[in-house]
Amino acid sequence: MRLVIKYGGTSISTAKDIQAVAKHINTLSKKYQILVVCSATSKTTDDLIEISESIKKENKSKAERLASKIINRHKQLAKQTIKKSDVRKKLLEKLDQDFTELLALIDGMVLLGEVTPRSMDYLISLGERLSIKLVSSAINDSGKKSIPLTGKEVGIVTDSKFGESKPLLDTTRLRVSKTVDTLFLQKTIPVVGGFAGADQHGHVTTFGRGGSDYSATIIGSCIKADEIWLMSDVDGLMTADPKIVKNAKLLKEVSYVEAIEMALFGAKQIHPRTFEPLLTKKIPMKIRNSFNIKNEGTIVTTSTSLSAKNTVKCVSNVQNNGLIDIRGGSMVGTPGTAAKIFTTLAKAEINVMMISQNPSESSITIVVKNTDLDKAVSTLEIELLGKIIKKLEVTTDVSIIALIGSGMRGTVGVASKVFGAIEKNKVNVSMITQGSSELNLAFVVKNSDTNTAVRALHDAFALDKIH
Ligand code: ASP
Ligand code: MG
Repeated sequence: MRLVIKYGGTSISTAKDIQAVAKHINTLSKKYQILVVCSATSKTTDDLIEISESIKKENKSKAERLASKIINRHKQLAKQTIKKSDVRKKLLEKLDQDFTELLALIDGMVLLGEVTPRSMDYLISLGERLSIKLVSSAINDSGKKSIPLTGKEVGIVTDSKFGESKPLLDTTRLRVSKTVDTLFLQKTIPVVGGFAGADQHGHVTTFGRGGSDYSATIIGSCIKADEIWLMSDVDGLMTADPKIVKNAKLLKEVSYVEAIEMALFGAKQIHPRTFEPLLTKKIPMKIRNSFNIKNEGTIVTTSTSLSAKNTVKCVSNVQNNGLIDIRGGSMVGTPGTAAKIFTTLAKAEINVMMISQNPSESSITIVVKNTDLDKAVSTLEIELLGKIIKKLEVTTDVSIIALIGSGMRGTVGVASKVFGAIEKNKVNVSMITQGSSELNLAFVVKNSDTNTAVRALHDAFALDKIH
């Protein structure tokens, strides 16, 4: 059996946790051929991004201060985690080379006075280069053979879209399977850095924030893994955010399509493209807690056997968004209106989270993040106001509430149950969308109504009794 096991940053951020991870892998390796994927340790990627911000602002001393923070954090971890002195010494030497490179990189970027997307990706991928060495050494320390490999070294080849690259799957499959097969033959456990690969010229690229999940499924599909586990500090996917709903339950099984919806809206953040490689290969994935390994977590599969039994599986929410109602008489019956609006927003790099248009075609309503709101409104005003748009009405601080579950498909009465429960709690709904897949029913309320709405729906669908 082949297993890809991915650890998020919080699972490997103290010496004790790294030792526990190494011990767990040691045990699992008796049963599985294991490949480990690691995120950077907590806060490290954030610090690296802040370094790039400081360089942009020509604040070299701040960049160097942040670099020392990262260096000290990893030196400490290395010293506290590794017991055998020869393993520790080798690790510290290898880390030292990365530290020297980090400082040289800052020097170079400061000298040029610019942060290009390419240098940025190289810089922010450093967190994983450090974490894989720690984890791999801890596995060595526990008595097993292991080596650290970056995404580039294991063979992940991507396009050259720095910051949000996509893998070139055929080349990647050939290279990754060759590297990994050789290591498995040598009974060596590869510890691979998530988040990054390299383009065909060998330049390091990243998949975007949270991209280590995606690395795990890319690699899993390349090596024909039997299972992929994503380990973090939560038990799995839940029926609602447990911070809002006290009796929220762990979901034992969900389908890929449900998981994709939950990843976008849920309390557990998963990189949105994570499930892509699994859809064709149909590899089961488990979402588990590294601090609670007795718990099996949530299993994500193609099977809808259990999944279909419950109409609704989860109520999730995303707060702090802005709603823009775009109106204009000349929008009615004019082909291309929507295209103009969305092209304008796309050019300004604004991500639209929800869209609805009423059948009279006189208004289109969209939801964007609060942080994108000002830019969205000013771009639409500059480009389209007085042309196809007559008026923009803006509401800030709204929350998207989404009900997810493939059992909603074709079930009569879901909407009336939802809005009945909402009405009873005197919450006003300002926008509703449902895709024709009927997998997701979403609506918009005021931020301050979020908890009431989520709790009302959790109750209405008796999600505390789900199994
Ligand atoms: N270290 C990267 C990040 O913080 C990738 C990941 O954690 O998945 O975004
Ligand atoms: Mg992460």
